[in-house]
Amino acid sequence: MEQDLIIAPSFFSSMICRMNDTIKIMEKNSLEWIHIDVMDGHFVPNMSSGPHVVSEFHNLTNLKLDVHLMVEKPERVIESFIEAGADLITYHTEATSDDMYIIQTIKKSGVKAGVAINPGTSVESILPILDIIDCVLVMTANPGRDNQEFILKTLEKIEVLQRYKDNQNLNFIIEVDGKIEASNIKEVANKGASMFVSGGYLFSNDDLLDEKIKTLKKEIE
Ligand code: ZN
Repeated sequence: MEQDLIIAPSFFSSMICRMNDTIKIMEKNSLEWIHIDVMDGHFVPNMSSGPHVVSEFHNLTNLKLDVHLMVEKPERVIESFIEAGADLITYHTEATSDDMYIIQTIKKSGVKAGVAINPGTSVESILPILDIIDCVLVMTANPGRDNQEFILKTLEKIEVLQRYKDNQNLNFIIEVDGKIEASNIKEVANKGASMFVSGGYLFSNDDLLDEKIKTLKKEIE
C-alpha cells in the first residue's frame, strides 16, 4: 500500500445524520479514507455496521473504505464485505484460525488485506503472514468497548513491526486504532505508523471536526 500518512476518521463515532457534512469536510481536507468498524456483539460487546453500511458508503462517496471486522470467524462474512465495495478489509487474528484462507480470499478479489492485533496479542503471532499482508492494524486501546484508554505499551509493537519491515524489506503499512488524538499521534507516527484511525477525538463535537482534522494533520506534517 502507499506509504503516505493517512488519517482515517472512524464512522462509528460520527453522527449518521451528519454524514453528508462529515464527508464534505473530509474531502475539503483531502482525506481519502473512512474507517468503518464492524462489530458483532460476540468478538466485542458492541454491535455496528453490516455490509449494507459499506455498500451505502460505496454508493454515496468516492472515499476509500477501510473496513475493520471485529467479528468472530470473519471467514464467514468476508465475501459480503468484498461485494459491498470495501477497499481494505482488516480482520482480527484472534477471531480465526483461518488467517491464510482469509487473506487469500480478500487479495484474490483485488481488495487490500489487513490483520489486526489486540493490545494483548504479540507481533510474533502474525510473523508467518507479514510478507503477504498489506496492512497490520495495531489496536492501541481495547476494541469494541466504551471508555477505553490509549495503551502506551502498544507503542513497542509498532517499533517491532517497523524493524521487521526494515530488516526484511516488507511492504505492509502499520495502522493504529484506539484513542488516537492530537496528544499522541506524533509519537505513534514516529514509531512507524502511517495510517491513523481517529474517532472519539474527531467527533466529540461535530462543529470542531474541520479544526481537529487540521490539528491532526499538522501534528504529523
Ligand atoms: Zn476500528
